[in-house]
Amino acid sequence: MPPLEEYVDEIKTLWESHWLTNMGVKHKELEKQLTQYLKVSYVSLFSNGHMALELLLQALKLQGEVITTPFTFASTTHAIVRNGLKPIYCDISLKDYTIDVSQIEDLITENTCAIIPIHVYGHVCDVKEISRIAHKYNLKVIYDAAHAFGVEYDGQGIGEYGDASMFSFHATKVFNTIEGGAVVYKEQNLEKELWGLKNFGIKDEETIDKIGANAKLNELQAAMGICNLRHINEEIKKREICDNKYRERLGGIEGIYICEKQDNVKYNYSYFPVLFDKSKCGVSRNEIYRSLKEKGIFTRKYFYPLTSNFECYKKLFITGNTPVAQYVSDNILVMPLYADLSEEEIDYICEEIKLIITKACK
Ligand SMILES: *Cc1c(COP(=O)(O)O)cnc(C)c1O
Repeated sequence: MPPLEEYVDEIKTLWESHWLTNMGVKHKELEKQLTQYLKVSYVSLFSNGHMALELLLQALKLQGEVITTPFTFASTTHAIVRNGLKPIYCDISLKDYTIDVSQIEDLITENTCAIIPIHVYGHVCDVKEISRIAHKYNLKVIYDAAHAFGVEYDGQGIGEYGDASMFSFHATKVFNTIEGGAVVYKEQNLEKELWGLKNFGIKDEETIDKIGANAKLNELQAAMGICNLRHINEEIKKREICDNKYRERLGGIEGIYICEKQDNVKYNYSYFPVLFDKSKCGVSRNEIYRSLKEKGIFTRKYFYPLTSNFECYKKLFITGNTPVAQYVSDNILVMPLYADLSEEEIDYICEEIKLIITKACK
């Protein structure tokens, strides 16, 4: 959160204007600043990341099948299904947990309309290969970039790849507007479409030309974003220090796997996922999770379960064959990571993990 005085200062003008929502000055200002910070062509703000994705898919008028992965947050698959589209699950790569591009082409049918990959943990998907496949088969590419705020690849904003990307500004993400999200894109014609869909399809006072929803980011949320954006670089810097510490302390331990850093990527250090292989380290992910919890260390099974295993999807779809996604989902644990996490705390967390493993090996 930004310093309270800074936020109060930012929202003062709202008490004079009484303009609280419906794309006011703060909303416009934040869109402008984000376009620069994210190094993208266009930004459309939304009330949250999920509605941004759901309405983006509607704006693109997609129909049929969408290739995606089940190793993600509920939102990605829900947005697909709530648009009447059918998710076709592709497996993920063990290297960085993003979509395994070598398996995409086998899943393409005459009904395929799009690929929706996820930049999981801020790891960059193989954007070049995905783009090659998309061109070859004339498919749209929409990235779930909820984890990838500020990430750059080859010096370009991550949102410049594909037809469009969704970012989430939820309170738990690297950058937040309390709740909030955005669609970023290259084609200007999407602007009007998205604007209409997030505001009931209202074109003017007497014309409603789209079956829209209500997904507007209000002025107090936008003001929060403007304040947080001023501090984002220092936040990411502090996270980087935490990331390095974790790598130092947990690297090289038998049975513990940490993703290697990708080349040409500017990271946001949003998450620190650690994979525990019981056959090598003697303890399962669930045992580590429980033991750490008893010590007051709260890790997260993220993402578990796979969206293809959700109760609500059991009867609806063939789950597809995604053994790597299943393995990662069963064994992954995301460590505590935030800017103010101290070196001592990281030491404590890593020592506890090592203790649990040593005990198990006896
Ligand atoms: C957070 C998240 C979303 C949804 O964003 P909200 O702003 O919470 O609606 C979608 N996909 C992924 C991968 C996420 O982590």
